[in-house]
Amino acid sequence: MLAGVLGLTMDYQLTVPALLRRAEALHGAREVVSRQPDGSIARTTYGAVAVRARKLAVALQQLGIARGDRVATFGWNHGEHLEAYFGVPALGGVLHTLNVRLHADELAYIATHAGDRAVIVDAALLPALEAFRDRAPFEHVIVVGGAAPAGTIAYEELLAAADEAAYVEPELDEREAAACCYTSGTTGAPKGVLYSHRCLVLHTLSVATVDSLAIAEREVVLPVVPMFHANAWGLPYAAAMAGAKLVLPAARLDPASLLELLASERVTISAGVPTVYLALLQALDAAPGAHDLGALHTLVIGGSAAPQALIEGFQHRHGIAVLHAWGMTELAPIGTIGRLPAALAGASEAERLRYRSRQGRPVPFVELRARGDAGLIPWDGSAYGELEVRGPTVASAYTDGDGADKFTADGWFSTGDIVTIDPDGTIELQDRAKDLIKSGGEWISSVALENALMGHAAVAEAAVVAVPDERWGERPLAVVVLRDGATATATADELRAHLEPGFARWWLPDEFVFADVIPKTATGKFKKTALRDLYRRP
Ligand code: ADP
Repeated sequence: MLAGVLGLTMDYQLTVPALLRRAEALHGAREVVSRQPDGSIARTTYGAVAVRARKLAVALQQLGIARGDRVATFGWNHGEHLEAYFGVPALGGVLHTLNVRLHADELAYIATHAGDRAVIVDAALLPALEAFRDRAPFEHVIVVGGAAPAGTIAYEELLAAADEAAYVEPELDEREAAACCYTSGTTGAPKGVLYSHRCLVLHTLSVATVDSLAIAEREVVLPVVPMFHANAWGLPYAAAMAGAKLVLPAARLDPASLLELLASERVTISAGVPTVYLALLQALDAAPGAHDLGALHTLVIGGSAAPQALIEGFQHRHGIAVLHAWGMTELAPIGTIGRLPAALAGASEAERLRYRSRQGRPVPFVELRARGDAGLIPWDGSAYGELEVRGPTVASAYTDGDGADKFTADGWFSTGDIVTIDPDGTIELQDRAKDLIKSGGEWISSVALENALMGHAAVAEAAVVAVPDERWGERPLAVVVLRDGATATATADELRAHLEPGFARWWLPDEFVFADVIPKTATGKFKKTALRDLYRRP
């Protein structure tokens, strides 16, 4: 029973179809631009996307897909993927974006666990799909952007046969599931996260706000972050709601192709993981002035810690601001954003840079706290604790009751990330709990060491991992990839000397290993489990 008086406002359901109706009615002519498999550019509009999304909903229903059913996608960032982002939830279905970079065994597990009844796949990715198709529950395989072999359905033919007028928007409850993603499974089996319509709409609103990513109608947004990874950080929905032009790069994520697209489409905001932008910065530095990036004002970088040198490089050498963001699949995914507070407007350049390298403050309605050995830690910028969050965009459980230990008795989600919290609520991520290095009973932050190493001019990438040590329990070891042609300029001694002024002696890595590459996870992060195994000394 309600103790108070019911307000007299509409019980309007916050749903993905409501987002689509808005995009169509207000921004129907605004462009959606996609890179094609042959490298050419295709142009469509939110208006056309809306029509085709409804056709997709009708066609899927005719194939027997019903409310609550899972429909997978297995594709890169392009207009048809956007149609699925809207079309599947438009029939009350659940969009399940499969990560194309995962191993076939993992994909088979995830598709089966989710119960995906159909999959929409890029023609170029059919061989990868074949590697697990017979172990997945797909009843229908729908092929986009190329020929549909026997036993599959051509996406364009499916849409051509669908009657848009047959679409009836279901009366959705905003609490119904609209999409699902799986966590990476670096610790145990992948776990399913099920987003409600309400969660996706509130996430769209909160990331679009001015102190978040400031997605306005005048912007041109290019998500490098794949649409198969954590809803592409919510950017496709946010761009559609605001009416920002959307530019989708498909599989062409190499620096040359990205630079060309950023320049030719006059992109203003782009977003992705640090590795992508490290490569982009190197390319920009190598040929300054070769690309007109005059329109580009913001890069949203997250997924793993953005090194300070990366933020500084874009800001100082190219006049492009970096917004550092932290998130997780379980948060739909954005949790915090490092927008510079007004109080620091007059601070020194070094101080402002230091702030921007932190992960920032929570987006609206995400609340945070952190827990150390002796309970919740103070917001003093120095105590370490595991970050806990709650809010309307945070998972309340994993599917099938998996991972129940990640949720506290009083309803918060334990992130597994170790942070410090400043008095103003800004978090600085020190490590994933499982990556922290414990030496002689004290914690060493691998992220801080990596950040500093990547600030050395000769270093392209650096990962620091714990190796077992008889005396100290664990000691840090640094794996370093040098920039092309920089071999002569960085020895282990030199890198140690570079770190010395910033760290206590016992933090300095005992060993520096020079490698050609650092293995990456399916989401482009350093694969620390592999590094630890590789460099574990007998
Ligand atoms: P995956 O496990 O596949 O990487 P997620 O995208 O959910 O899946 O990863 C979330 C994790 O990524 C966070 O828990 C955190 O450890 C890390 N992370 C995300 N953003 C940042 C950031 N800006 N700085 C440091 N770590 C980050």
